[in-house]
Amino acid sequence: MRNQAPRLPSAPAALRVALAIFVLAWIFGPYELRSAVPVWLAFLIALGLEVSFFLGARRPRAPRPDRGPQPIDRERFGYLAETEDLPPLFEEDELAEEHPGLWQPLRRFLVGLGVIGGLALVFWTVELRTGWDSLAVETRREAQDRFSDEASRIAGKAVRIRCDEAGAYVGAVQHADGVAAVGGDLAYLTPERCLDLYRLAFDGEVRSSQTARALAVLAHEAWHLRGVRDEGTTECYALQSGVQLGKRLGLAEDAVRQLMRQQLVENAGRSGASVEYLVPPDCHDGGALDLDPDSARFP
Ligand SMILES: [Zn+2]
Repeated sequence: MRNQAPRLPSAPAALRVALAIFVLAWIFGPYELRSAVPVWLAFLIALGLEVSFFLGARRPRAPRPDRGPQPIDRERFGYLAETEDLPPLFEEDELAEEHPGLWQPLRRFLVGLGVIGGLALVFWTVELRTGWDSLAVETRREAQDRFSDEASRIAGKAVRIRCDEAGAYVGAVQHADGVAAVGGDLAYLTPERCLDLYRLAFDGEVRSSQTARALAVLAHEAWHLRGVRDEGTTECYALQSGVQLGKRLGLAEDAVRQLMRQQLVENAGRSGASVEYLVPPDCHDGGALDLDPDSARFP
């Protein structure tokens, strides 16, 4: 009974499939995805699109034809008196098809909300079981104390490292894995970085570039606390300090140097908004920023 143009039924369905793929990739995929896109943004976009589909479907597309008895109706059914109790001519679905009023868009909207809610539940459950938050309070405190000790060595004074569980200071929104006041005594790291550091320090677990990044971030914030402001210089120092830091947390020297060199290579690929984090040209062996000019190894 479709006499209108097809109504793009695939758009919400495609959206839901895309959302499901994204959430699963976010949970189980590469860390790069996690750090690049906050997961709630995907939920928010999906929700926004569902709302817009819903409102779009409610808006009349074109003036409705007069639905009083039409000539064709009279031909088919004979003349029907104004409003007697008549049996429904169409099943509910057909009726909704002919009159895209509230019910059908509302039903699609509710299905969409259900899908979004279900995915959020899956996400939340997995995170609760595997994330930083899944660790016991005591364990988290112990880990943060350890990170604070390590940061204090680099900063040359007593500083504190806190894992920003509430996402109030750092995270995808702030486009940062850590934050520290220059010369201060308190820095925040994202729970993801804290978890990587915890895995290394307490479980001896290495996740290549994730572990490397976590070491670099902790060292980076420690250098800010020490008083270095310039981001590129801070990062250059951090990648060098990351070697000793990684060793103290259980890595072999060659392995951790390799990780930090890799970070240096990746640093060269920074562009756009993160260009200020590019290490300066004198960040090389024997350069002005070499913390250990006597050594031929860098970092
Ligand atoms: Zn910084």
